[in-house]
Amino acid sequence: KVRVRFAPSPTGWLHIGGLRTALYNYLYAKKNGGAFILRIEDTDQTRFVDGAIENLIDALEWAGIGHDEGVILEDGKVSERGECGPYIQSKRLDIYKKYVDELIEKGHAYYCFCSKERLDQVREEQRIKGKVPKYDGFCRDIPLEEAKARVAAGEEYVVRLKLPRNTDISFDDAVRGRVTINSDEIDDQVLMKSDGFPTYHMAVVVDDHLMGITHVVRGEEWLPSTPKHVYLYESLGWEAPKFVHLPTVLNKDHKKLSKRQGDVAVGDFRKKGYLPEGLINYLALVGWSPEDGEEILSLEDMADKFSFERVGKSGGVFDVEKLNWVNAQWIKTYSTEAIAEMCVPYMEEAGLMTEAQMRDNWDWYVLLIDTVKDSLSYLSEVTSKVDFLFGDLDITEDDAKAELAGEQVPELIEAFEAQLHSVDAVDRDFANSVMKTVQKATGIKGKQLFMPVRAAISGNVHGPELKNIIYLLGKDQLLKRLDEAKA
Ligand code: GLU
Repeated sequence: KVRVRFAPSPTGWLHIGGLRTALYNYLYAKKNGGAFILRIEDTDQTRFVDGAIENLIDALEWAGIGHDEGVILEDGKVSERGECGPYIQSKRLDIYKKYVDELIEKGHAYYCFCSKERLDQVREEQRIKGKVPKYDGFCRDIPLEEAKARVAAGEEYVVRLKLPRNTDISFDDAVRGRVTINSDEIDDQVLMKSDGFPTYHMAVVVDDHLMGITHVVRGEEWLPSTPKHVYLYESLGWEAPKFVHLPTVLNKDHKKLSKRQGDVAVGDFRKKGYLPEGLINYLALVGWSPEDGEEILSLEDMADKFSFERVGKSGGVFDVEKLNWVNAQWIKTYSTEAIAEMCVPYMEEAGLMTEAQMRDNWDWYVLLIDTVKDSLSYLSEVTSKVDFLFGDLDITEDDAKAELAGEQVPELIEAFEAQLHSVDAVDRDFANSVMKTVQKATGIKGKQLFMPVRAAISGNVHGPELKNIIYLLGKDQLLKRLDEAKA
């Protein structure tokens, strides 16, 4: 049975690249009726960020990527579910210690007593010689009994992996194919630090084995570490899982996506009003595509069609415009009523309407949203699309000014005003027919008719349908705006 895991380090908020890794794991599990596990890799305590675990769980939940086992939130508190716990590495120290000891006994690992000063000096010498810095093996051949005596005497130590010299280590990667690296190119990795914590490399192998992970699906930045892991599996007499290294998510300049070019945290996209369906759908396509070329896919569709064979080798480019397009398609799948509900906080935050005003004028508000819904890429955009309907109109746009400079404009505006004066209020019928009536009264037609009116009441030459703008503004606002447009 397939068992996969997402194993983030709680060093910050979940970002787009991490979400995609989680997503591919999830899709593979769903596709194969397997289990998806969420494990927290917090062996580097110096980089722990408070609240990061909660954020990770919350962001995955928002995205709809549910997991079967691992850390969960229960009443806002981090808890666990599943048979293979603990799922937080800092709670598993004694487990790692046991296997580190086993490696030492079998001669696959050794105690290293080198001071930081010595290691720095070795590194500096190698750097001067133009070599890639690597541990020089100073403690490799200390007899075990002697090393143990030094440990017992209280000397500070770490434990290192004893890689065989000049030996090829190979493994098959589902995306990369066969990968071979010579052990001389790899460091004698520290497996256990002086504080008794394992390093990532030790912990990841032990946990993936004990948690029954069948496929390790992770970012390609871990590809160079994999030979060490493969050697560890071998040394412990365990079967290695399948490896699947995903291409990096790149920005438009084909560099690694980073905070400097804009949003990378999942929370930023959520705050802007991207729908989880839209973000997940687009992210899946950064690095993968279904065989049929379909672009709008639900989580179920994706799980149905997912395979590692269709994951690209080269980095996937994260293109915000494409994301916007995908998300817009997802917004269109919702009823106006539902989108209106989702837009309430954005309207309120922008100070356009209070929640009470929206609730008290719900039908009006839903129509407001209806007029712009199909033009939204993400929900927070709503405010800039509708704000022309609120407050005073200031006609600054040149195109709009030009429309209002026409010779026939005063006549047109007067005719419109006359129509408004003839009714108590602007209802749908009036909004739908008034332009026709003005056309008959003035003989002005087509663009000459519509554009100046649009410019006068919306301040713009583009925008939602005129009859909707007329209806939404209502009699008093229309008269006020027409009056100002004449001036
Ligand atoms: N803890 C690692 C990270 O934060 C996970 C690497 C792996 O999946 O093995 O990326």
